[in-house]
Amino acid sequence: MTAVKKMRGDEDALRQTHMLIGGKWVDSASGEVLEVEDPAHRRPIAVVPRGRAEDVARAVQAAAEAFPAWSRTIPRDRGRLLARIADALEARLEELARTIALETGNALRTQARPEAKTTIDILRYFGGLGGELKGETIPLGEHVLSYTRREPLGVVGAIIPWNAPVLLAALKIGPALCAGNTMVLKAAEDASLGVLLLAEVCQEFLPPGVLNVLTGLGEECGAPLANDPTVSKLSFTGSTEVGKLIMRAAADRIVPVSLELGGKSPSIVFPDANEDWAIDGIIAAMRFTRQSQSCTAGSRLFLHRDIFDSFLEALGQKVKALKIGDPLDETSDVGTIINEKQFSKVCGYVEEGLRQREGRVVIGGLPPKEGPLSEGYYAIPTIFANAANDWRLAREEIFGPVLVAIPWTDEADAIRMANDSHYGLAAYVWSHDIGRALRTAHAIEAGWVQVNQGLGQSPGHSYGGYKESGIGREFSLEGMLESYTQRKNVTVNLMR
Ligand code: ADP
Repeated sequence: MTAVKKMRGDEDALRQTHMLIGGKWVDSASGEVLEVEDPAHRRPIAVVPRGRAEDVARAVQAAAEAFPAWSRTIPRDRGRLLARIADALEARLEELARTIALETGNALRTQARPEAKTTIDILRYFGGLGGELKGETIPLGEHVLSYTRREPLGVVGAIIPWNAPVLLAALKIGPALCAGNTMVLKAAEDASLGVLLLAEVCQEFLPPGVLNVLTGLGEECGAPLANDPTVSKLSFTGSTEVGKLIMRAAADRIVPVSLELGGKSPSIVFPDANEDWAIDGIIAAMRFTRQSQSCTAGSRLFLHRDIFDSFLEALGQKVKALKIGDPLDETSDVGTIINEKQFSKVCGYVEEGLRQREGRVVIGGLPPKEGPLSEGYYAIPTIFANAANDWRLAREEIFGPVLVAIPWTDEADAIRMANDSHYGLAAYVWSHDIGRALRTAHAIEAGWVQVNQGLGQSPGHSYGGYKESGIGREFSLEGMLESYTQRKNVTVNLMR
């Protein structure tokens, strides 16, 4: 604390925070800090420790020391602790939701509060799965007993992004700890406060060292964690680019890796779905109320040519009605982009779309340079019509509210274009004709296809990507077993 204050000088008024290592709340070894910004007002609100390799080593050591006892704790007892964490977090739900809204710019009513609720739901779900860490017996004959055990992997190194920071932290903590692993989790530099609050509640119940939470930059803190020889499993959510670095680090030591990466998810709308419910579904699928900062955003809209103009007209009207404003204002539907870098990137894509000759702007455009919205990183939901699937806007993950609408007439062509992407995370199909919808769903190369809805993930379903969208599954019992346990086979000769 003293070290932080010395370095902060006249900015002492900023909220100061600590990392969780071995059950203790600590500064970084260097005493350095990073500022966390409120993206709605472009001003610093807090400082977090700037964790580096030395801090990573301490945290990994603490996790390794906690592992033997935690891994031997009866699984249902571990689960019970997660359930108690969920209850305690529920008592602080509003504080958590407001923290998320403040640091991420996600609107409180539409995003931050639902994120806080889903976080609790996730912890409860995994808290109930302790008894499912079962093995099998293998029928090799009466003279042999052959059985498997599901054993934890050891210290899990988890690295998460800023877009749904607390939910994603719980999505790593819940299954990894339930399965008997201990963890070092690195929060994203732009959104550490909610994760630290979650860690605080966890630490009320967990033995020291079972969960360690670091704050810091990717290269300074994430990379040493990914490369630490004691870490025996890596679980990463973030960009495909960094995912590849994580996988390389894992390859050096042959440790298992789970990656949940980017997406450029297609929505295919058949002509019979030219109706209000489908328009609402497309808005939800595009995650417009999260400024589309979601890997599952349905950001390529394949509309049948017969309904192309009428659907887009109605969609544009509804999107225009969304209220963009202060994330903490209950009436805001849409908040801000996370930071300057992402904001400029999103604006760059919009400028590029505006320059496309064959394209047409249905709604949106560049953000205002004056007025209340110019105080924060507010992007304007933007839809481009007559886009082509080979535009950069249709190929790259924008991570902002920019939707491209592409016309089609032939079903096979729509599916071909939908699959013509190196991503394969999510997809959406819209039609009353269930046979056609399911045929399409089966033909799409994506880990999660929704028919006639554009909802978020629920605990219980296996979520993860095809192609460069990732490896492994999260959110489910199967995901926990596959990602956070290893099978040991024991074979006993009963004749001796
Ligand atoms: P985003 O574009 O969503 O910020 P990133 O993949 O850049 O996604 O970041 C996701 C997480 O990965 C963050 O916690 C970030 O600090 C971390 N990270 C970034 N670069 C590296 C790296 N080279 N090694 C390990 N972690 C990294």
